[in-house]
Amino acid sequence: MLFLGYGVYKNLKVIAIFHNDTYLNIYRIILLTIMDEILEKQLFEKYEFLRPTQDRSIVEKNMEIMAKQMPDEKIKGLEDMEESLGNKGLISDSLKEYKNKHDPEIYGEEIEPINDLMVFGMQCDNGWYNLLDELFYNIQNHLDKHPELKKNFKIEEVKEKYGTLRVYYYGGDDYIDKLVTQAEKKSGNICEVCGAKGKLCTTAYDIAFINNSFYKVPSENNGWYKTLCKADAEKLHYMYDKEKISDSEAYRILVKRKAENDDTLANRDTYSDEYIEYAEKENRKIEKYLDILKKRL
Ligand SMILES: [Zn+2]
Repeated sequence: MLFLGYGVYKNLKVIAIFHNDTYLNIYRIILLTIMDEILEKQLFEKYEFLRPTQDRSIVEKNMEIMAKQMPDEKIKGLEDMEESLGNKGLISDSLKEYKNKHDPEIYGEEIEPINDLMVFGMQCDNGWYNLLDELFYNIQNHLDKHPELKKNFKIEEVKEKYGTLRVYYYGGDDYIDKLVTQAEKKSGNICEVCGAKGKLCTTAYDIAFINNSFYKVPSENNGWYKTLCKADAEKLHYMYDKEKISDSEAYRILVKRKAENDDTLANRDTYSDEYIEYAEKENRKIEKYLDILKKRL
């Protein structure tokens, strides 16, 4: 796993991380929002079990080495990915920049494995700072009362996943498990950006037929997830509430989605069974809705 870029995506501070088998075999990019360095530093200073056991400069160093070894076709692949993410320049520009600083002396140098994911810091936005501070405070209190737990306890990773908080750790006990589970659950009601009351929002929407009207509703299957208040959802173009739409708009969207699903089903060999099943299920729903609409329009 390697950090490869830092930038802004949809007004969010993000780091781009690639999951990979070997350092040349990239297959997946993950964008993670990150906390302001100043806030993060406060937490690192307060709680020893958070501090990375590796030097954070390892990330920068790996990034340079990897960029130099990155074949041009991989960069092209990244550019395509960025295109689909709607943020040109977030990753490939930083990669190119590092590649341009080519230094033959370290070319071919092994990438140092990252064993402690805390070198990436708090992989969530600032709105969860208080939630995390409270969680870590309670953990610290518990460790102080049970010093035998201290030696083996270490936070391994703090991140947002599918819109809510995840905290991974070594050691601990049932009580710490409970504290972490409670905090993760609470995050689903706290805006990750500002800390106000929030709910799980998505960038994609589904069409639903409710009380004889058509609505756009936050998608359960597609898009990016984030827990947000109404104002931040609007700013970041996430769906907060369902939104009533006209029959003609519903018709237009459904026809377009059916065509996309038909295209997927015509090329079924290139998709996973799971995705084919999803496209078939969606099309059955869409056909039912289109029948309703044909009678009404
Ligand atoms: Zn907010």
